[in-house]
Amino acid sequence: MPIINRIAEFHDDMIQWRHHLHAHPELSYQENETAKFVAEKLRSYGIEVTEGIGGTGVVGILHGTEPGGRSIGLRADMDALAIEERNDFAHRSTHDGVMHACGHDGHTAMLLGAARYLAETRNFAGRVVFIFQPAEEMGGEDGGAARMIREGLFDTFRCDEIYGLHNWPGMEIGTFAVKAGPMMASGDSFEIEVSSTGMHAAQPQKGADVVLTAGHILVALQQISARNTDPLDALVVSATQIHGGDAYNVLPNKVTIRGTVRAFSPGARASAEPAIRRIAEGIAASTGAQCQISYLQQYPTLVNSQSAARSAEAAGSSVFGSVETNPPQTMIVEDFAFMLEDRPGCYGWIGNGPDDNGRILHSAWFDFNDDALPFGASYFAALAEARWQEAQ
Ligand SMILES: [Zn+2]
Ligand SMILES: [Zn+2]
Repeated sequence: MPIINRIAEFHDDMIQWRHHLHAHPELSYQENETAKFVAEKLRSYGIEVTEGIGGTGVVGILHGTEPGGRSIGLRADMDALAIEERNDFAHRSTHDGVMHACGHDGHTAMLLGAARYLAETRNFAGRVVFIFQPAEEMGGEDGGAARMIREGLFDTFRCDEIYGLHNWPGMEIGTFAVKAGPMMASGDSFEIEVSSTGMHAAQPQKGADVVLTAGHILVALQQISARNTDPLDALVVSATQIHGGDAYNVLPNKVTIRGTVRAFSPGARASAEPAIRRIAEGIAASTGAQCQISYLQQYPTLVNSQSAARSAEAAGSSVFGSVETNPPQTMIVEDFAFMLEDRPGCYGWIGNGPDDNGRILHSAWFDFNDDALPFGASYFAALAEARWQEAQ
């Protein structure tokens, strides 16, 4: 079975919603109009709605007509990014400097499509919890997933299992991938502040050169993944910012390095922070500079449970024909990982078509592919229906 017929019938409506959301993007925790749009749609389908969970989060509850007591959570994220859109099509962003460059407009439209279909048919037992999450892009403990959980998402709305998905540029339309176990990386951030007294550029003997010290640290940080980590255990340490100095003839008194650490295994992740401290402090000591380090654990590894991955594969196969069950893992992070720490479930990737002409995530030329809408909505719906049948 490909797309569910009834969902194909209202494909044009989903395109309209998606274009409306794309034209009116809102940043993390500012998704007020988006949340209102979602809540109104859900109510119009007869779905019970609770607003304001985790700031601008929206939760819808729908009971099926069959007997049974399981509760399944389906999640979409709603926020946009601080990027000035470069596209010039009719539905381009009308908000300066804000853009749906990650396709969360499409995720929201797909889950709304599933909600509309499931509300019409109610061909399942127990209930479905529709979770429209804010602030995925903010991430970490401050992000929408962690905050919704802190504010009682799963206490108020019991979910026996949860599912989510992300559009994946470069995967063909009508394809789907899931992987049991770790699928997306953990993500931490670090800051190294190297300081000294600063001095005249012509008198380097008068103090510790923090620019040179920072240079040694930058190079040595690469030894963590190259020399301190099991070669079969993936770890990335990327220094992404370096700030310091503002005159050509002054050796500054401070240089700041910031960056991110990505890993899959708890062991590799745990080894990074002490290694960064050892390297930065050791090199600073060798040049006579001071060094202050802060390290923040932000995203857990996204781990799909074995049984939920099998359910996702079964539901996915009914919609997509077949499912890629061994896609390459990615070092990209996703805050659905917090929900998967709390509840068993599965995250998957849905094909968004070619990734040429800037159609890549977080690009100013990105646009969610409307052809994917009925596939994603059908997947969510099939998942809910299939899980009830399995649970009988
Ligand atoms: Zn994103
Ligand atoms: Zn995203």
